[in-house]
Amino acid sequence: MKCYLCHGRMKPFLFKNGYQIFLCPACGLKATDLREEYESFIRKFYIKGYYTGDPKYAAYASYHSDKWHIVRNMRKFLMHIQKYKKTGKLLDVGCAMGFMVELALKAGYDAYGFDPSVYAVTEGRRDTDGRIIRGTIQSVQYKPKSFDIITLFDVVEHLGDPARDLAKLMTLLKDDGILVMATGNTESMAARTLRRRWTFYIPPQHLFFFTRKNFTDLMVQSGLEPVEWFMIGKWLSLRYVLHLARSTGGSALARRFFRLVEKVGLGWLPLYLPMRDNMVVVAQKSR
Ligand SMILES: [Zn+2]
Repeated sequence: MKCYLCHGRMKPFLFKNGYQIFLCPACGLKATDLREEYESFIRKFYIKGYYTGDPKYAAYASYHSDKWHIVRNMRKFLMHIQKYKKTGKLLDVGCAMGFMVELALKAGYDAYGFDPSVYAVTEGRRDTDGRIIRGTIQSVQYKPKSFDIITLFDVVEHLGDPARDLAKLMTLLKDDGILVMATGNTESMAARTLRRRWTFYIPPQHLFFFTRKNFTDLMVQSGLEPVEWFMIGKWLSLRYVLHLARSTGGSALARRFFRLVEKVGLGWLPLYLPMRDNMVVVAQKSR
């Protein structure tokens, strides 16, 4: 497999969930070998089970029931955005059920979003006043240079061709607009010590795994320059953590504990995990 960023030859890094993740010794980028066409993959993968705890996805135990936790994390992103833009038109890319759009609307932004998942968009449409639509970065049509803020929270690692997608998003961003992205950091302590057990290494939904340098190179290739980096500690529900444990580790104990917690109705319990394994960047168009 050839490196997406530097075109060097990649070598096998780890095998998980039936997929091979490769590592580029030259630049450190890691990538999943998807072995199928990306567009058809996303159409069949991001369906109901992905959001509702089907153990074969290692994704969300219940995206809708975890709204409180997810929104709490999004509020941290929004606080950073407010330092740059107090109002304006916001586009949330990969918006799922539109929680970010809903939050941004309440904070006074003119917010919109889109997601490739028919299921997620249908579920979230009512709470977002019809402002979220089904689409991919390449398929959506908005007026050029019409957004002040574009956000991709835990989205870039799901993209099949992120440089091409970021270049498209740049055409939608105003010249003085900002783009805010969050993804996992493969150089973090958690990534290095947990290795294959690091929950961010989840093929096939995660296709790219970046170091901060890789992420910077990707942005530069797409005509962006980073202006601020930060990290957030995340609120997760007990149900989400146990769902990940049972679906990635396949541990019988985690499976039993998950069932017990759901039975007694304690899945919502919030856990604060300051893992320091993510990186969030605020970027602008390169001058
Ligand atoms: Zn490389």
